[in-house]
Amino acid sequence: MSISKEIQYSRINLKSYAVIPVWYGCNSSCTICMLSNVRGRLATVDFDTFSRLIAALVNERRYDNLILSGAEVTTFSHLDQYVRYAASFGYFRKIQIQTNGRKLADKEYLSRLIDAGVNEFFVSVHGQSEIHDAITRTPGSYAATMAGIGNLSEYPVHVITNTVLTSFNRLEIAALFRELCTAPVHEMHLWNFFPMDTSDRLDLVVSMPDLLMLFPEISSAIGASGKPLVLKGFPECLSPGAPCFINSDFPLNLIQDDFWFEFAKNGFGTCVYKGTCSAEECWGLSRAYIEKYGDERHLLSPLSKSGTAGAA
Ligand code: SF4
Repeated sequence: MSISKEIQYSRINLKSYAVIPVWYGCNSSCTICMLSNVRGRLATVDFDTFSRLIAALVNERRYDNLILSGAEVTTFSHLDQYVRYAASFGYFRKIQIQTNGRKLADKEYLSRLIDAGVNEFFVSVHGQSEIHDAITRTPGSYAATMAGIGNLSEYPVHVITNTVLTSFNRLEIAALFRELCTAPVHEMHLWNFFPMDTSDRLDLVVSMPDLLMLFPEISSAIGASGKPLVLKGFPECLSPGAPCFINSDFPLNLIQDDFWFEFAKNGFGTCVYKGTCSAEECWGLSRAYIEKYGDERHLLSPLSKSGTAGAA
């Protein structure tokens, strides 16, 4: 029996999460930042607004997991107060922070966050060593982030890593995941690069043939660990199967409207097979991707109602 058939891969269900971005300060300067065009226009969510949003989520009882994010939420000095308030309802099963992980290297700070109620960490790691530091434009950030992840092993918390795939890190991606499998990480995510524009000005978008070429090496790097890799924002019909899963589920995101105006420029969801494919939430290809590489009609393959590719 193959490894993939023996293992039950446990993965978070982002559809059960609501995200409240509370703060837009940051201690890094990532080349791939989705907020770079809009950060100056997004306001901090004050405590009154936050408490109203929490009350609405608790009353609605639809999303029982919470994510606090922003640009870098650990640079927000009131984070533990916000977390403690959300946790006081005893309603949310998970309270996650999305973070670059650097401040988690400070054990006292980490202990305060966990004491307040954070029990899940979504930590960005975009490459090994110099590659990560070049993407964050912050020397030493990789060492700090990995130290932070190491510190999480002392607590009964859930740890997910987040990597954005670009032309800059793609050849090192398998080695990165091999390393992350040896760290106290339960699940890894690989996100498509969002250009936040109608064209790939930074030349960072990776072609789907190049993505497919990575799968055997990634599967071989992570297979024996039993840890899953979840790919976000890619065409569902390209799913290679366990331990790699393409999944298009996203949380409810309560970010301010200016962000969605910028996000719409990506133009995700384009596919020549939209009319015949049964995938309901597939992200297809972005506008920038199609301008750069074409519509990939010979690579994509509409899914049948049972979810298998090749329904055309
Ligand atoms: S064929 Fe279906 S699954 Fe594939 S990209 Fe198009 S919509 Fe998505």
